[in-house]
Amino acid sequence: MRYDPDNIFAKILRDELPATRVYEDDATLVFMDIMPRADGHVLVIPKTPCRNILDADQEQLSTCMATVQKLSRAVMKAFGAGGVTVQQFNETIGGQEVFHLHFHILPRHEGVSLMPPGQMADKDVLAANAEKIRAALTEG
Ligand code: AMP
Repeated sequence: MRYDPDNIFAKILRDELPATRVYEDDATLVFMDIMPRADGHVLVIPKTPCRNILDADQEQLSTCMATVQKLSRAVMKAFGAGGVTVQQFNETIGGQEVFHLHFHILPRHEGVSLMPPGQMADKDVLAANAEKIRAALTEG
């Protein structure tokens, strides 16, 4: 399958669409999911193009996983979570909706189910949650 350079996340990378950015390094970008399934739900993406795990190269996978670990630790701290769920979907039949590789990180709390899909978050709440995560990253 071909990579579509006009997918939503490619546009976010090029700053053609807004996003609540949390963290970036040379190879990866992290931003808040606009329809979070949990408070502090972030997405980790590579800065270089690939559809998903099926066409990703080793560099894209390893840099994303390093950022997934870093952000998993940060959201645990920022939200006082008891654990994190990491999700990743491949192709339509695998549940993928945006065709630029991404990993979901969802902070989890005892007795709290994931929120239903498709509910847009308040922009100010996303910004406040991003700030909490940035603070946790700074504290280390
Ligand atoms: P999936 O491809 O199934 O992993 O789903 C795509 C995810 O991207 C969903 O969780 C959406 O809420 C999220 N999403 C879609 N558009 C945006 C956007 N503009 N900014 C942030 N997250 C988005």
